[in-house]
Amino acid sequence: MFDPILYTKCIDFAARKHRDQRRKDPEKTPYINHPIGVAYLLTEANVVDQNVLMAAILHDTVEDTKTTFDEIEKHFGKAVRDIVDEVTDDKLKPKQERKRLQIVHAKGASHEAKLVKLADKLYNLRDLERTTPAGWTQERREDYFVWAKEVTDNLRGTNEQLENALDEIYKNQNLV
Ligand code: NDP
Ligand code: ZN
Repeated sequence: MFDPILYTKCIDFAARKHRDQRRKDPEKTPYINHPIGVAYLLTEANVVDQNVLMAAILHDTVEDTKTTFDEIEKHFGKAVRDIVDEVTDDKLKPKQERKRLQIVHAKGASHEAKLVKLADKLYNLRDLERTTPAGWTQERREDYFVWAKEVTDNLRGTNEQLENALDEIYKNQNLV
């Protein structure tokens, strides 16, 4: 059963954790817009599994703030912890290696983690379609689309709506 109190607590938790962060767009949008938007994209794609939606809300907390996996488990349970763990890069690894591992790990990820990954990429690519982050060259932007496609190609067969929305973007970028 969907627990609205726990779901709202999760949004509040993420908002507190990301409170000092901003997105990379020139407008410096508050960071929390992203995880909330990722969860919303999932609901629009008919994903209503509460653990998946909470993992979407929390998906960047460990990677980008001081949040620990234990904290997530304590407040939101082991299932949510495990999904967040799956979608969190190992920050000890160099950036390029992390990007390569995202492509490699995508195929073997759980259905729940694949959903969060698809929505995360969709959100970021829509952001990039809208505006280019300050300091990014056109080449860096193009590289990001190409890399994201390599990741999402390995997430296919998970959710038709999200995958169709991604295809629309790749078509606009002349990648398909
Ligand atoms: P980054 O990984 O540095 O940035 C992209 C990430 O930033 C996204 O995955 C997203 O992650 C987050 N993000 C925040 N705001 C936005 C926004 N408005 N739009 C889209 N994403 C946003 O980018 P790169 O993949 O290009 O860089 C990888 C590495 O290569 C870095 O170390 C970079 O310094 C280096 N580099 C690459 C160049 C290139 O040409 N590719 C050139 C120079 C350096 P999240 O979902 O976690 O928020
Ligand atoms: Zn993200």
